[in-house]
Amino acid sequence: MKRNYKHMETAVIHEGYQSKDMLGSLSTPLFQTSTYTFDSAEQGERRFAGEEDGYIYSRLGNPTVAVLEERIAALENGERGLAFGSGMAAVSAILVALTKANDHILCSSGLYGCTYGLLKLMEEKYQITHDFSGMESKDEIRSKIKPETTCIYVETPINPTMKLIDLEMVAEVAKEHAIPVVVDNTFASPYLQNPLNLGCDVVIHSATKYIGGHGDVIAGLAVGKKDFLDGVAKTTLKDYGGVMSPFDAWLLIRGLKTLPVRLDRHCDNAEEIYKRLKAHPKVANVYYPNDEIHPDYAIMQKQMKRGGGVISFEIKGTKSDAQGFLNNLMFLKIAVSLGDAETLIEHPATMTHAVVPEASRHDMGITDQLIRLSVGLEAWQDIWADLEQALDTL
Ligand SMILES: *Cc1c(COP(=O)(O)O)cnc(C)c1O
Repeated sequence: MKRNYKHMETAVIHEGYQSKDMLGSLSTPLFQTSTYTFDSAEQGERRFAGEEDGYIYSRLGNPTVAVLEERIAALENGERGLAFGSGMAAVSAILVALTKANDHILCSSGLYGCTYGLLKLMEEKYQITHDFSGMESKDEIRSKIKPETTCIYVETPINPTMKLIDLEMVAEVAKEHAIPVVVDNTFASPYLQNPLNLGCDVVIHSATKYIGGHGDVIAGLAVGKKDFLDGVAKTTLKDYGGVMSPFDAWLLIRGLKTLPVRLDRHCDNAEEIYKRLKAHPKVANVYYPNDEIHPDYAIMQKQMKRGGGVISFEIKGTKSDAQGFLNNLMFLKIAVSLGDAETLIEHPATMTHAVVPEASRHDMGITDQLIRLSVGLEAWQDIWADLEQALDTL
């Protein structure tokens, strides 16, 4: 889809919606309907035959959802967007669409916990195998590609250690082998990073996070080539059935309007908190990509607008010290998820990444002392005051 508005700040508000087509309604109308009436039996026949455009049933398409799909396609600079009932519905629909029994998926080392679970399930049920790669050099990626590799699946920034992968480099190697690259862009959001512009093929978002931004929706989005996503819409979306509800699409359209404003504040706050965590005597390692001491700082400068709103850090001490630290917080919320107005803090080893076997967790750098912080939109001074008093009690 071609973007009508050059600047992201304008596109998040206007792309994909014309108020004059909707009785002048400034806000995108909520079409909370399951089905659509036909004027005649013949019209119903033509719609089902694909001879006439128009809506049939909301699992196959809905006008509110369609606005969101057009908007996200424009924001990610892709031909088509597709909406799903959750981030995992998007991940599973895309991965199942790209593989068949006995194929192989090459993944970045470090994946969202449930994506890891899905890969295990695909292996057990369909012998679709996977390998992990640090994706630090072209040769390392080439050495892990097999004749049966049909998909490269990348997360960057990697949850929760905030390592980055050079997407342009991955896309170049993938092109040599004609393998599509799928990127989970949840942590960066479309405001900070656009993988399709770097040569990747499909972008996935858990819209639950920064795109919704208010902690009230579970949803997923994908953007890519029209042919490919038309196929997904007719198969692994329609028949597996993980569609987005119109009301969730409506909430996401509203959330998206403030994405750039919110992300800039998330990043400003994260930068302030990062500096202070780094200097605190009870904190061992702090992981945040927007710092020249971060090993992937050059990649960040190349492909991300800013460092994002998530910081991970290790406290000095044991697992029970890490849990004690969380229990000592006054108002910051202990919760998984990220990208909300509220600052959310969690313990990956026992929460988001508890499903990952201990050895793999260790390889991913997820220690018992690691804490993940999604810096919210509160005053950074208040966020820091709470973190500091909890650290000081250690
Ligand atoms: C949350 C998340 C998902 C899954 O999204 P849901 O909306 O919870 O299904 C996938 N990838 C990443 C990186 C996430 O943070």
